[in-house]
Amino acid sequence: MSLFPNYQRDSLTFVKGRGSYLYDQSGKKYLDFGSGIGVTNLGHAHPKLVQSLQQQAASLWHTSNLFTQPAQEEVANLLTQASQLDAVFFCNSGAEANEAAFKLARKWGHEVKGVTEPEVITFSRSFHGRTIATLTATGQEKVKKGFSPLPAGFVIAPELSLYAVEKVQSPQTVAVCLELVQGEGGVYPVPATFIGQLVAWCQANQILLIIDEVQTGMGRTGEWFAFQHYGVKPDIITLAKGMGNGFPIGAMLATSELKDLFSPGSHGTTFGGNPLAMAVAKGVCELLQEPSFLEQVKKKGQMLLAHLAQSLHPLQIVREVRGLGFMIGIELSHPATDAISALRCKGLIALPAGDRVIRLLPPLIVTIDELKKAVDLIYQTLSVEEEMGENDAKLEISE
Ligand SMILES: *Cc1c(COP(=O)(O)O)cnc(C)c1O
Repeated sequence: MSLFPNYQRDSLTFVKGRGSYLYDQSGKKYLDFGSGIGVTNLGHAHPKLVQSLQQQAASLWHTSNLFTQPAQEEVANLLTQASQLDAVFFCNSGAEANEAAFKLARKWGHEVKGVTEPEVITFSRSFHGRTIATLTATGQEKVKKGFSPLPAGFVIAPELSLYAVEKVQSPQTVAVCLELVQGEGGVYPVPATFIGQLVAWCQANQILLIIDEVQTGMGRTGEWFAFQHYGVKPDIITLAKGMGNGFPIGAMLATSELKDLFSPGSHGTTFGGNPLAMAVAKGVCELLQEPSFLEQVKKKGQMLLAHLAQSLHPLQIVREVRGLGFMIGIELSHPATDAISALRCKGLIALPAGDRVIRLLPPLIVTIDELKKAVDLIYQTLSVEEEMGENDAKLEISE
């Protein structure tokens, strides 16, 4: 094996994807409720996106950001219309989008707020990426281990409360950055009351609000962006995962007040926003824009959450079912790895999050029948686990 062993990969290999399904080498079909970690939101091999990419591939791949690329302006317009933000920077991943956001916030700190050592507040259980700055911003020790020295300028609030934010605030604070549903950390939706308080606090203290929408954005929660559920307006948002439906792309969006801080030469990327990525991202935006598409996602997400909560309620091993839109977590009383493997054998792909959470990120195009099938499979699998656990317990007592 010539790959770094930084992933504990499953031996399962997929050779084809269509809509909500993946197919392995033997032809076995899997309902894909992982969407490649919230990426293939519009399903595999979406005909419109395949066509966009093929057409672009036959005409022009790359020219660099030294030249005008009209498709960038088109995609930027679609994103600013959808978000009510004003300026877009394209990059290639979520971590890069967050790097851009932190750089912009620091520049604003220096040039507008007059701060010398700008600090960004993030939260425990958060995930913001794997680059040196974004792993420092991440509120999970396991991603930092072995990578010191970590850069200065990040402080982590120990919980999602204003009390915790005020405790770590300093005169150097320039921004607060958070996910509205903590994805990797275990699918924790942020309480709406805290979001309201935080927005007011940021305004009162002249502090920027950065929402990391890398996982929650692009329709995942039933709105274009998760912040739209709460009627708040962030200063900066970051996007990536669902934006290219599998083609690597990221973006950082900000308000007009911040736009000119990224003056010529201040930030850049070789690949970001290249013609291939733009062709796909434009297709993705157009599909999300279709009348009632997001309305359907919202309805189906509520339905999935309600059905899961109802059918899993009798099981002792299920601690909680929670989520927003098509970002759902099933917290168990023990590690979720066995349940996730058992689901895989039954033909349902689900993902882990945190230690004990089964994370469901169905494609937004999933049908109601497919949702029902998934709920049945999850119920069957978890009730078998529960029975096995009870039998083990009985065995222990009798021994
Ligand atoms: C996945 C993720 C990232 C990192 O994205 P990459 O494309 O892997 O760099 C950042 N923030 C959140 C919330 C994510 O879910």
